[in-house]
Amino acid sequence: MPELPEVEVVRLFLDSHLIGKTISKLEIITPKSFFGDSNFVEGQKIIGTSRLGKQLSLNLENGLIILFHLKMTGQVIFGDSVFGHPTPKEDKTSLPNKSTRLFFTFSDGSKLFFNDQRKFGWVKVLTKTELIEFQKNLGVDILSPAFTPKHLYNQLQYTSRPIKTVLLDQSFFAGVGNIYANDALFLAKIHPFSASNKISLKTVTLLHHFLVQIMIESIKAGGSTAKDNKYIHPDGSLGQHQFSFQVYQRAGEPCLVCQTPIKRIKIGGRGTFYCPNCQK
Ligand SMILES: [Zn+2]
Repeated sequence: MPELPEVEVVRLFLDSHLIGKTISKLEIITPKSFFGDSNFVEGQKIIGTSRLGKQLSLNLENGLIILFHLKMTGQVIFGDSVFGHPTPKEDKTSLPNKSTRLFFTFSDGSKLFFNDQRKFGWVKVLTKTELIEFQKNLGVDILSPAFTPKHLYNQLQYTSRPIKTVLLDQSFFAGVGNIYANDALFLAKIHPFSASNKISLKTVTLLHHFLVQIMIESIKAGGSTAKDNKYIHPDGSLGQHQFSFQVYQRAGEPCLVCQTPIKRIKIGGRGTFYCPNCQK
């Protein structure tokens, strides 16, 4: 699933390619992937982009917001043709294709496709007030100035659930998913089962440092295209951060610090990777 860095890479791309473009048509192929009225976006110019956690917004001249959530397999692809199916290896046919749920055509003829093989993702058209209401249960974005070591520590005092589970809970913090939760816990040497409210402020400060650091490094690398190949850039290219994974998807391989084989367990139903020697 695309996490904060992947969504931010998509946002940066859209920010540099879509600002100033006018939507001439929005075609909905799969109605369950879209919430809103396409009439309110047609004829509108895109004037900005923003992101909270894993949610991406295009801001329109009339004040409305087009909000995207990519969920498991959603993709935002810019162009006319070429890039093909979610999994680039599978299908090189032109877009729209069988995974395209909707697409925008701009007045200059360029197009933006929302593809989503598994249909968990969505696109919504909202007013600013509706957006605030919709996002009110999201925690602080990991890259916002409000996400400080003290904020992380204070939030963790509310629960004794495993730290791994709490990091993934978007009502506590917005943007962290399975890849970065696993790797940040490894770097901070925290066992993923540790009770959140039992971790010292000193250790939480380290965790904060590594969480922010790997998010920034991943954005610089264009995000992570993990083994499922679902995440791609809007121009069809792949992220590169997967080559820097610490423990994620490395079960059985040697720990990068101590060579102990990385273990895979399940916590809260999610695949969890850790070094049994480094993370105690
Ligand atoms: Zn180790």
